[in-house]
Amino acid sequence: MTTTNLTLKEIYNLAIKTLKFNGCDELNSEAVAETVTNAERDGSVSHGLFRIPGYIASLKSKKVKGNARPTNKFLTQNAIRVNGDYGFAPTAIKIGLPALIETTEKYGVGILTITNTHHFAALWHETESLAEKNLIGIACTAYKPSVAPAGAKKPLFGTNPISFAWPRKNNTPVVYDMATSTMAMGEVQVAARDGHKVPYGTGLNKDGEKTDNPGDIANGGVLLTFGDYKGSAIAMMIELLAAGLVGDLFSFEAAKEDNNDGGPARGGEFIMALSPHLIAGENWNEHSEKFFQEMKSLEGVRLPGERRHKNRLNTGSRSINKELVDKIISLSE
Ligand code: NDP
Repeated sequence: MTTTNLTLKEIYNLAIKTLKFNGCDELNSEAVAETVTNAERDGSVSHGLFRIPGYIASLKSKKVKGNARPTNKFLTQNAIRVNGDYGFAPTAIKIGLPALIETTEKYGVGILTITNTHHFAALWHETESLAEKNLIGIACTAYKPSVAPAGAKKPLFGTNPISFAWPRKNNTPVVYDMATSTMAMGEVQVAARDGHKVPYGTGLNKDGEKTDNPGDIANGGVLLTFGDYKGSAIAMMIELLAAGLVGDLFSFEAAKEDNNDGGPARGGEFIMALSPHLIAGENWNEHSEKFFQEMKSLEGVRLPGERRHKNRLNTGSRSINKELVDKIISLSE
């Protein structure tokens, strides 16, 4: 794979120029370009510039509104709904989070249900933003079917990611963010592009047989959930929270509605915030730090989120697939 080096500023500028060139206005371009740049900064490669061609395809096909203006509505004292106005999810999240933070700081619990958006980013952006305000964050979203429920050979679930972030007063938050499939489809696509194999059993090929060929999974095959029926139950829960509770599309409904332009399908997102200060009391940080100390005293353990936070300390340029950069440049000329 040939690569090219881009600074974070160059990554942001390339993303924003390409989005604007294809009809995205300032508000929406900024929200998406920030999300993409932060993903490259942290080494979440499958959710950085890799996603720009898909975002552009959706602007071109007019599936996604480049001038969306999301709005907040309080459903109850604790539950806020953001209507994303059929734009990209990062814009709706940016509009909804301040209201969620304010509500949770006041009442201890807050729920943000995001509807009418197109989500294809990593979820740690939203949970980590909550943890940086000393709140616990939980987020999940469903997507078009590519994952078979336990026992099946046909897809019904999306790769349905879930993220959880725990705040730490004098440290970076503990954050996990994971697809409930064995791998995220983005990672499978990157592996196929770069000619790497994936662990055997990541998914099934079109004949329903287990394979380690990412191309066979991405093209006509199906992913499996992690942990067999246990992961399958969590993927089902995510469908119910992010679609059933939010009042947006289940993965199978999103697939029926989507125009398959290569960009993100329409759907919702469920975000919950909790205030440890109001719920656990003054000592919540010291108490949980003792737990982390115990955990880290075990040989071989690292806390989730540490890899990204370490990557973030590197403010230098990032090595990006040159073919991808050339493709994005061609979309902005
Ligand atoms: P990974 O399997 O790479 O990582 C999952 C989590 O496990 C991360 O929080 C990671 O922390 C942590 N982790 C990894 N290795 C260890 C370890 N040895 N010890 C402790 N923790 C560890 O992620 P996925 O491939 O499952 O998902 C990638 C991304 O794809 C996610 O950001 C997800 O939100 C996104 N996604 C988005 C979708 C959408 O529709 N919007 C759909 C599906 C996925 P760390 O970051 O520090 O490595």
